[in-house]
Amino acid sequence: MDDCRICRFMNDWDVASTKHGVVTYGGLAIKEGHLVVASRRHVPSLSDLTDEEATGVLALLRKAVRGLGEIRAWEKIYVLMIGDKDTHFHAHVIPRLPGEAPVGPFVFGPEGWRSVLGPSSPDSRAVSSMREVLRSILK
Ligand SMILES: [Zn+2]
Repeated sequence: MDDCRICRFMNDWDVASTKHGVVTYGGLAIKEGHLVVASRRHVPSLSDLTDEEATGVLALLRKAVRGLGEIRAWEKIYVLMIGDKDTHFHAHVIPRLPGEAPVGPFVFGPEGWRSVLGPSSPDSRAVSSMREVLRSILK
């Protein structure tokens, strides 16, 4: 799609690709080693991929994480799937060097995303109810 930046940079920043996905490294990287692994087909989310595409993209994602891990001794390699801006399924592979701040507190810590969500943690009854619904859907 012409208005999709992932579709556009898929060719320019391709470092590895398969029938179902592409590993890119380029201008959107926020730090050294920040890769973007995207589905070859323009779809908004993981649930829009066929089983074969999802398997292919996740295998490529694993390959990208392993490959990045061979470059240096990262402290951690994160895999994030956010998709707030881009309506093309992709995952960010973001390595953290020893001494760099961990990502977890930005999401789960009291000063992170959780702070803007407010007191919205589900109570145990709501968790139990959703657990039952999920069990029936996912079996
Ligand atoms: Zn796209």
